[in-house]
Amino acid sequence: MLYSFLYENVHQAQAIALFCMDFRFKDATLEYLKHDLGLADLDIAVLAGAAKNIADPTSPSDFETAMKQIQLSVKLHHIKKIVIIDHADCGAYGGAMAFANSEREREAHVVNLRKSREILREKFSSQEVELIYADLKGNEIRLERV
Ligand SMILES: [Zn+2]
Repeated sequence: MLYSFLYENVHQAQAIALFCMDFRFKDATLEYLKHDLGLADLDIAVLAGAAKNIADPTSPSDFETAMKQIQLSVKLHHIKKIVIIDHADCGAYGGAMAFANSEREREAHVVNLRKSREILREKFSSQEVELIYADLKGNEIRLERV
């Protein structure tokens, strides 16, 4: 009864956040979204590789899955913002070892993040797209807008 009651009412989220499944970044990412970006009510889409699914998908279904989650969030929860978060040492990108150094790695993620924003802007013109990179510095995770 309570379940159907909740779904019959209009409900709204501030944003959707798309980030990677990698457990190492989960807590820091959720903290950052809530405290640094002020996004408490948000939808979450967890897909390995995050921006890669949109900018450089391994298969068309990866792209469709990512877009469908965002589309549903727009339609059902009327979000105003889409936040895409990539991270260092991401397995979907081949890990840190796939890059000559951490600067090159960061650059590759920034390229994909920005490309994903261009693609999203075409489809979701009313939503702001925010891009975040989560870097690893020793044992610390540092998230920043890119
Ligand atoms: Zn990852």
